[in-house]
Amino acid sequence: MTSFAELGVPARLASVLTDLGFDSVTPIQEATLPDALAGRDVLGRGRTGSGKTLAFLVPLVARLAGGASARRGAPRALILAPTRELATQIDEALQPLAREAKLTSCTVFGGVGPGRQVAAIRRGTDIVVACPGRLEDLISQGQCSLSDIEITVLDEADHMADLGFLPAVRRLLTKTPPNGQRMLFSATLDKAVDTLVKQFLTDPRVHQADSAQ
Ligand code: ADP
Ligand code: MG
Repeated sequence: MTSFAELGVPARLASVLTDLGFDSVTPIQEATLPDALAGRDVLGRGRTGSGKTLAFLVPLVARLAGGASARRGAPRALILAPTRELATQIDEALQPLAREAKLTSCTVFGGVGPGRQVAAIRRGTDIVVACPGRLEDLISQGQCSLSDIEITVLDEADHMADLGFLPAVRRLLTKTPPNGQRMLFSATLDKAVDTLVKQFLTDPRVHQADSAQ
């Protein structure tokens, strides 16, 4: 049983994870954390329930911690998710980690008024957890820029492809700096996802782990 601290997660962040009951890492976390913490591009495949969310949230928070706060209208990290439910879940898992690292986050998705989302981004939010459509709307209205993005995560890339979001995802990725860190997580890897990987990940480390134990 390997702990988060043993994989190089900073002590205070590791202690938040222990307090939340995450005493040891899952196989996908064990496989991806060292590369992700080192800033490498990562492709992680693991079945639903294998613990992919923390596999990207933990290194994302560890790497943003201590840096300069986000400028107004220009977040430092972007997590793309296919549905508002998933974006909300990711943001909930992010909250205790972000709090410890003094980072701010907000969700961006359709079906609700944009007022609070726009206000949060304009105040300066470090991490945006977004569905592609609404984020594209905010960018086209000049409310959000991706020019300061240091880390981009695509979660449930297979689901994004099924829902027809890959063109929007591609447009968004081309607006982020090419030298940033990119991580892609998926339960399955088909041709559509593979094409995205080849276009946007640089020499990625590929890790596959299906068990949650
Ligand atoms: P996936 O995205 O791979 O489907 P999730 O990230 O949603 O999986 O995690 C599935 C469940 O496992 C969640 O309830 C999560 O809190 C829990 N979990 C994740 N990592 C750990 C861990 N290291 N130890 C114990 N439970 C964990
Ligand atoms: Mg998931």
